[in-house]
Amino acid sequence: MTSSTQLKRDIVVRFAPSPNGLLHLGHAYAAMVAHDFARERGGRFLLRIEDIDSGRSRPEFVEAILADLQWLGLTWDGDAIFQSDRFESYALAVERLKDMDMLYRCFCTRTSMRQAQETGPQPEGPDGPIYAGTCRHLDPALARERARTEPHSWRLDVAKAIARTGPLDWYDERHGEQIIQAERLGDVIIVPKDTQVAYHLAVTLDDARDDITHVVRGDDLFASTDIHRLLQALLDLPTPVYFHHPLLLDESGAKLSKSRDSASLSALREEGRDGYALVQDLRRGIFPVGISLASV
Ligand code: GLU
Repeated sequence: MTSSTQLKRDIVVRFAPSPNGLLHLGHAYAAMVAHDFARERGGRFLLRIEDIDSGRSRPEFVEAILADLQWLGLTWDGDAIFQSDRFESYALAVERLKDMDMLYRCFCTRTSMRQAQETGPQPEGPDGPIYAGTCRHLDPALARERARTEPHSWRLDVAKAIARTGPLDWYDERHGEQIIQAERLGDVIIVPKDTQVAYHLAVTLDDARDDITHVVRGDDLFASTDIHRLLQALLDLPTPVYFHHPLLLDESGAKLSKSRDSASLSALREEGRDGYALVQDLRRGIFPVGISLASV
């Protein structure tokens, strides 16, 4: 027997930090927004540790993430999920994309790409300057030969992918209806030179695998969502609803970041600050001196 309640998909939201540094206030805000989004709608809130980059991920950062969230009073459902347990599924998807002829080998180095840009600045894509496409039309036999000795990444041929899928759209509860624009993307890396899988593929596969209905995350990942939507279409995965929230900015108007040494949550926790009260303040839009919420 079915009823409309049984048919309604339960809301599932996730917080998906990468354990390559200590979390800061921006993460507390992001975790709170995702957590409250789920709880206010009677949904589930999952924690997924995005530790695909084994060179930069550290167990002590995982420990700190778990302790920070507990300190903030943001509880998640079930066990934390680790992307490092899922490399096999990423490899299968990479093979599938290769079989579909959607990926190509790229031998470019940072230096060669900087030189390519000297002919004129490339527009920005989700991962920085849009790739100039140098390796897109390498002869496949030659590329295979070079691959024996030269390190290389695998890139998504975005134009070919869109030619296959046709026009695509996705919906953001804050920013409205979006239509993918190929020229905004560039051929992003799917398999980096030095790790097994790039963020874009892992996150897309896992949002489907974890039955995420609503991807709630910061505006810094807004531009990446076109890529994720494209990968969903190629790999026959469902498309969640998105909600990209505004970012917290420091006094210079820059987003808080691990690399800018923004005060870590661990430091506040160890100072004996009240994490629960901090989250209550964030909910009310009360931020520490010098911190503000981006207005767009
Ligand atoms: N792991 C990503 C990060 O820490 C976030 C992934 C996401 O929310 O899509 O920036």
